[in-house]
Amino acid sequence: MAGFLQRVASSLLCVEARLLQMLGLHHPPAPVLVFPALSGLEQDSEPAISFLDDPFLWMAAPKNRRTIERNRDRRRNPQKMIKFRTNVDMCPECGNLKLKHVLCGFCYDRVMDETRKIRALMAAQEGGPLRAPAMETVVVYEGENTSETDAGKRILETKRKRPNWFTMH
Ligand SMILES: [Zn+2]
Repeated sequence: MAGFLQRVASSLLCVEARLLQMLGLHHPPAPVLVFPALSGLEQDSEPAISFLDDPFLWMAAPKNRRTIERNRDRRRNPQKMIKFRTNVDMCPECGNLKLKHVLCGFCYDRVMDETRKIRALMAAQEGGPLRAPAMETVVVYEGENTSETDAGKRILETKRKRPNWFTMH
């Protein structure tokens, strides 16, 4: 009996609110779900993101299970396997492995390092690449002397020893 009376009372309240709303006299309070424990937390923080906004929820899901045989067939497909290389050779200069038709990367780095040092030597001597004279250049390392053939050439002297791979001529 009490429950019936409560339902009648709530429905009457609803009708009253609706009538007031139609007359424009009163805005009924919007339905609010309040959690006493969370109400204090959500006041200062940003509005909570609904779990429906999570894109993971809307991702396509597999409809059937794939057997381990099919998975292994896919994973061990010959097209996916690493290919054997037969064109690998030893670098005659440094001994590292390299591809047969490709410059050795170790030797390339070595030569580039020496080139960088010689360029720094030129910059220290002439103060920039644009001021370099238009003539042949000879690099003289430690323990070396200039010969008669070097007359009239631009000479760069350095205190370092000549690398064993950097031949004189
Ligand atoms: Zn090499």
